[in-house]
Amino acid sequence: MHFFVITLFPEMFTALSDSGITRRAFEQGLSSLTLINPRDFAQGNYRRVDEKLAGGGAGMVMMAEPLIKAIEQAKSQAAVLGCKSIEVIYLSPQGQTLDESNVCNLGDRKSLILLCGRYEGVDQRVIDALVDHEISIGDYVLSGGELPAMVLMDALIRRLPGALGDERSAQTDSFVDGLLGYAVYTKPDEILGQSIPAVLKSGDHKKIEKWRFLEQYTRTKNRRADMLASFKPSKEQLKWISDAKLDT
Ligand code: SAM
Repeated sequence: MHFFVITLFPEMFTALSDSGITRRAFEQGLSSLTLINPRDFAQGNYRRVDEKLAGGGAGMVMMAEPLIKAIEQAKSQAAVLGCKSIEVIYLSPQGQTLDESNVCNLGDRKSLILLCGRYEGVDQRVIDALVDHEISIGDYVLSGGELPAMVLMDALIRRLPGALGDERSAQTDSFVDGLLGYAVYTKPDEILGQSIPAVLKSGDHKKIEKWRFLEQYTRTKNRRADMLASFKPSKEQLKWISDAKLDT
């Protein structure tokens, strides 16, 4: 199984390539790894890969262009290796929780592209247009997707015929605010045929707060309805839910 990993911190992956069962699997040719750094595709003297959140707020967002180019490079290298179609997995706390069944389901792939997020995450338009699966390693937020990518790789490599062991890892904790996060966007205003939602450019903080809450609520309802059982909306949030005609 060949992994193309898109990461701002390729050096972290020596944890897999230099140690234990995974190292042996690489040495035996059961698995292989290509590391692609989005910074290599960034523009300007500073090779910037992050930008402020559209609509305001704390933190930064990974910009779309360097990620699009990194994914294109991985796909063209996969084609050279004979993989005509290759899936893109974004490691994300909002994804499907990694468990026995989805590790097993991915076990027959010849190659995979793993996208590691940093900061507040990846511009939503990259996810919508180019990502096939979002995988979480549990209900907690880490600083980056590298460790989750390594967890996924380790779980897959250990199952390859000839590699020893069969370990499972899946943990569940609750998110800090009881809901999944909202979609994030950054410059440019238009990319991949999609625009930043107009409300985020309105400068109206109350409207943005409401839009983001409803985004969070709808996403959580759609993806993790079980979390809503213990979510206690404020009076204002209850009114927003009711105005939007969403069930509680
Ligand atoms: N603001 C995002 C949210 O609320 O969903 C979290 C961003 S986190 C600080 C930065 C990156 O770490 C994410 O883009 C993702 O790639 C990775 N990450 C963090 N926690 C993760 C988890 N539990 N599973 C998979 N990836 C995770």
